Amino acid sequence: MPHLLIIEDDDEIRARLLKALRDLGHVVDTAPAGLPGLERALAARPDLVVLDLGLPDVDGSQVLAMLRAVSEVPVIIASARDDDPSLVRALDSGADDYLVKPFTTAQLDARIRAVLRRSGAGPEQSLLVVGGLEIDPRGRRTTLEGREIELTPKEFDLLAYLAERAGEVVTKKELLTEVWQQPWGGSDKTVDVHLSWLRRKLGESATEPGYLTTVRGVGIRLSAPSAS
Ligand code: CA
Repeated sequence: MPHLLIIEDDDEIRARLLKALRDLGHVVDTAPAGLPGLERALAARPDLVVLDLGLPDVDGSQVLAMLRAVSEVPVIIASARDDDPSLVRALDSGADDYLVKPFTTAQLDARIRAVLRRSGAGPEQSLLVVGGLEIDPRGRRTTLEGREIELTPKEFDLLAYLAERAGEVVTKKELLTEVWQQPWGGSDKTVDVHLSWLRRKLGESATEPGYLTTVRGVGIRLSAPSAS
């Protein structure tokens, strides 16, 4: 049974999530602020943390950074902030997913299950090779021409998903559904932002594509760069 930790200062939201997630069969622990949350995370070793950003003692993004320094535990940010800088910072600091308040417990539960599925010991996956790009889904490592490239968890998921479908055009809607688990109303911008980061790390850009090609009005294709 997955063990969850909810770090949330709003008593009402915390109580509601606690009850709903317990009813769904999770083992749930809670903390009303950042520092007690960090203590719980280290002591109880949860399988996943749901973290609010606006906390009374330490900002959630700092809690995430401190947690990341000592733990690989998957983190879902649950926040009322939906502005780009907060989102980008959270994802950059190693959050696995992001949910903007208000959300339903069914939505949160879907994210929790998806993140746990990705972080868990899933079925054995083999190395994905596209041209000079090698993606190891088990070790979660990526090399380009033999040189390791550092990707955030979400950039890795995005690249691995595209690599599994190398040569095919994948729509942004599909990426939002499959990589972000946001079939309802996710924003194309989320995909665009991550694609542009990914392009930079692969040493290419939208105007000078290499591995990633935008097919206007359709989606994205990952393929080995043509020799021409
Ligand atoms: Ca709050």
